[in-house]
Amino acid sequence: MTNLQISNSLTRSKDLFKPIDPKKIGMYVCGPTVYADPHVGNGRSIVVFDLLYRVLIKIYGRTNVSYVRNITDVDDKIIEASKQLNLPIDKITSDITNIFHKNTKELNCLTPTFEPKATEHIKEMIEMINSLIKKKLAYVNQGHVYFLISEFKNYGKLANKNLEELVSGSRVEVSKLKKNPLDFILWKPALEDEPGWDSSWGRGRPGWHLECSVMSEKYLGKKFDIHGGGLDLLFPHHENEIAQSCSNNSSEVLANYWVHNGFLTMKKEKMSKSLGNIETITEVLKRYNAQVIRIALLSAHYKQPLDWNETLLEQSKTTLEKWYELYDEKEIKTDSSETFSILLDDLNTPKYFAKLHELFNSASKGNKNKKNEFNEACRFIGIFNENKAALKERKKLFSTIEEKYILEKIEARIQARKSGNYKLADKIRDELLKNGIVIEDKQNKTEWKYK
Ligand SMILES: [Zn+2]
Repeated sequence: MTNLQISNSLTRSKDLFKPIDPKKIGMYVCGPTVYADPHVGNGRSIVVFDLLYRVLIKIYGRTNVSYVRNITDVDDKIIEASKQLNLPIDKITSDITNIFHKNTKELNCLTPTFEPKATEHIKEMIEMINSLIKKKLAYVNQGHVYFLISEFKNYGKLANKNLEELVSGSRVEVSKLKKNPLDFILWKPALEDEPGWDSSWGRGRPGWHLECSVMSEKYLGKKFDIHGGGLDLLFPHHENEIAQSCSNNSSEVLANYWVHNGFLTMKKEKMSKSLGNIETITEVLKRYNAQVIRIALLSAHYKQPLDWNETLLEQSKTTLEKWYELYDEKEIKTDSSETFSILLDDLNTPKYFAKLHELFNSASKGNKNKKNEFNEACRFIGIFNENKAALKERKKLFSTIEEKYILEKIEARIQARKSGNYKLADKIRDELLKNGIVIEDKQNKTEWKYK
């Protein structure tokens, strides 16, 4: 028994974590929709739940914790991206999944126990829809299948709103095919050139919410401990997952604890692809070490909004460089329970970081035990995963040439080409290449990467 406390959106309080079975802890976190490069806003959720996973492993043991993070590889956004980029859907989903994995590896996130893909669970999704129809909890209308909200009395419990508030407060898809505006799609027909699967309601594809109900049940059972995701998923996504699963299983609860991380903002506005104010993880990695990004993402409490800007990154970089002064390659086990206990209080990372600074100061004065404790505490939150030589090598790479310089050169080259001075344009390209920078002209923009 430990005293892990976690903020629970379902009860709207900080609750003591009581596992259903301490030998079978289950955590499900909504993963990426693989249609575009993951941005740092997505990265925040990945890193926050990676930390929670590490805490659960430390308490209950690795083999006793199952962490499921799905991959949404069928969705309207993916179809849209395929049309816009004129690329096959599987090419987009496999490329973006690879980038996602590369990003999570760089950010030193542990691999989840299961990473199921939606397209590999269509059969189970069709089965769940059939079961809901049979129970009169869903209805078919012109090849569409909708979940019947009026049959689920607890709808709105997670969002803490009644039906009227939900209709007026959210963007509800309007359709004459629905009985209630909040009824949501379980299955929709697919156009000829869109991905689709045969079903008794015609060729089509599942609604997004369904996959999480199906995959969480398959890997964790009908009731499990923790369900997580970004705050934007609370309604309608998570509310709909609860409606589907609980009504189908005639149960009161899907997950006991619903954990949501706050938004990552840019100039106080939520970072999102639809608003266009995003920075991809890959882009930030060109300028900063992954550990810097990890420190930045964990610097605020996970429930609070976090503003993403250069000051935050620079401060995190300074912190990392300072802390590496006391880096020890040897991993010496110490009693770090006091430091660890800070995280048991709802993953209080700001307080944990304050403690790391305190340990650093004591260790700097020559206290060997504190130095070991400091190293262990850094490793625990997923930093200090590169030795000094590797870090030095990277530093050389990241600081010899500044991005500002590269962008100026690219702009100069664009101007040279515009004015027909191809000789100068080529000269600039060769100059960048000499500095280890490769540029590529893509449609109407020029991109760069390290050689
Ligand atoms: Zn989900």
